Amino acid sequence: MLVLGAGLAGTLLALELAEGGAQVELAGGPMVSGASGCSYGGVPWWAGADDAFGRLLAAAPARWSALQDRYGDLGLSSSQLWLHWSAADDPAAVAAARSALATLPQRPAQHAFSAAELWRAEPLLAGTDLAGAVQLPYLQVDPARLQQGVEQALARLGVERSAAVDAAALPQRLEQVDAAVVCAGAFSGSMLQQLGLTPPGQLRFSWAGVLQLERPELSSPIIAMPLLGARRQRELTAGGPPLVLDPGLAPGPAGGLLVGQTSWFDQGLEHPPEPQAEEQRLMAVARQLLPHVAVAAMGRISLHQRAVAYSTDQLPLLGPLQDCSAIHMFTGFSGAFAQVPVLAPLLAGAMLRGEWSELSDLGVLCR
Ligand SMILES: Cc1cc2nc3c(=O)[nH]c(=O)nc-3n(C[C@H](O)[C@H](O)[C@H](O)COP(=O)(O)OP(=O)(O)OC[C@H]3O[C@@H](n4cnc5c(N)ncnc54)[C@H](O)[C@@H]3O)c2cc1C
Repeated sequence: MLVLGAGLAGTLLALELAEGGAQVELAGGPMVSGASGCSYGGVPWWAGADDAFGRLLAAAPARWSALQDRYGDLGLSSSQLWLHWSAADDPAAVAAARSALATLPQRPAQHAFSAAELWRAEPLLAGTDLAGAVQLPYLQVDPARLQQGVEQALARLGVERSAAVDAAALPQRLEQVDAAVVCAGAFSGSMLQQLGLTPPGQLRFSWAGVLQLERPELSSPIIAMPLLGARRQRELTAGGPPLVLDPGLAPGPAGGLLVGQTSWFDQGLEHPPEPQAEEQRLMAVARQLLPHVAVAAMGRISLHQRAVAYSTDQLPLLGPLQDCSAIHMFTGFSGAFAQVPVLAPLLAGAMLRGEWSELSDLGVLCR
């Protein structure tokens, strides 16, 4: 089996296929070259609907723990998510978002903070223009530790590692394998087009920008994201602004902080947004969220720009393609760090047994 793309999806799927007895080649990487490598790595296990798929997502924390028990450190740590809002936000929209949280089917414990309580609980954010926040239980996966742990596990299981497959060589490579799984994130659609195949209609991508502040002393265990997150809303609408900005903060890979994120919906795969303006935009977010941290105290500042796949109905795209059943998809996630660990074993099992009813019942087979 050939797995194309070694981000979160490709690596966890390759592990499951190898555990199931398949001979596996995993092409691509390192993880830092894709979206997974500069992700906040938060596990929104409580974000699903009141259905079988939502209940499967709620098992993501247990699944990550089981993976760590089996393979050693994969970067998992317990965290908290703060969904914050500011005085400038529309009070009716804030109230609606808070009542949606209060009725989440998985009933995660929640705690509302005032601005003063937030500043006391996380002094790094002291003085930030926040009107309040709701705290939810969260897990975080550090992408740098995940990469290290998962590569060791893949090597122990005998998974062959190879470089990214060149588009021109792809048709010939596919002739040499029983099945291939496209786990190439934002590049999945163009990969299928190069093979003369039609990508699923729901598959899209946006360009994300995030700043990494590489000063370990700036560490914080929390992940802060806007309650009225613009990206998810924009992904659900056919039109809308080309750029949305979500002022978020998360622990950075191997220390420091990540600050972001911009999402661009009008750029081609070959054309990331202009980096200088992007860095300035994100520096404004850093100054807004960390008003007492001088720029000189932020350490080395690097801009990461990554194309990220999503699907227009917020459900992942996985399983065999309708016009070529030897090629499978595993991409288009919304909350990948909750979805991938619970879906990878089901996809691997279905591929190895040729039995798709479980995934079909979840409503996530390639639509
Ligand atoms: C700033 C930011 C914050 C985020 N925060 C969260 C969060 O808190 N929680 C969450 O769940 N999600 C989050 N996400 C989204 C999440 O990171 C992605 O959905 C997820 O990482 C996608 O994983 P993937 O393996 O599908 O894709 P990727 O990680 O993009 O991996 C695809 C890989 O395929 C490779 N590739 C491309 N072409 C080829 C080829 N021809 N051959 C071989 N390989 C190829 C690419 O180089 C890449 O390495 C965030 C994203 C960003 C950008």
